[in-house]
Amino acid sequence: MKTSHGTEFNVAQLLKEPVGGRRSFEMEIPMDFEEEELNQSDPLTGTVNMLRTNRGVLLEAALDGTVTVQCSRCLTDVVCPVSLEIVEEFQPTVDVVRGTFVAVDEEDAALLINEHHILDIAEVVRQALLLEVPLQALCREECAGLCPICGQDLNVGPCDCSRETTDPRWDALAALLKEAE
Ligand SMILES: [Zn+2]
Ligand SMILES: [Zn+2]
Repeated sequence: MKTSHGTEFNVAQLLKEPVGGRRSFEMEIPMDFEEEELNQSDPLTGTVNMLRTNRGVLLEAALDGTVTVQCSRCLTDVVCPVSLEIVEEFQPTVDVVRGTFVAVDEEDAALLINEHHILDIAEVVRQALLLEVPLQALCREECAGLCPICGQDLNVGPCDCSRETTDPRWDALAALLKEAE
């Protein structure tokens, strides 16, 4: 099986085939997206299968990789495994035999094959990845987080703030006790 690096496939030959024509690729997709949080990891790898349908090309992709996000409590990097299962039908915008533009009923521009017969899966991969990024990642379940006052990482050890009271009523009492001494 061919290994494809990148997100673009020229599907001109596949589009010339009758319904049922197939292609399979091993894929390696570099993490090169608009969102910075998606870009700190190794490439996604997996397989892509394409099937010629009467409307276009049905794409099935199974991709694995990781995304690196920050722990929502202590802000250290957390590497989260991601597993993408993508099934989408792409439609050509140009008739591959006649070279004429065709009317498409697909409203999602991410699912259109361009006039050079390039099917680009970057956008569907990006969308699938964003759904996989955990919103509240934790480096570990019992992460103690950062002190809200001094910012110390409480996983490393307690800070001085946690031992002092900040309630002014206690301060007043402490002053009274001092006077009484
Ligand atoms: Zn943490
Ligand atoms: Zn503190």
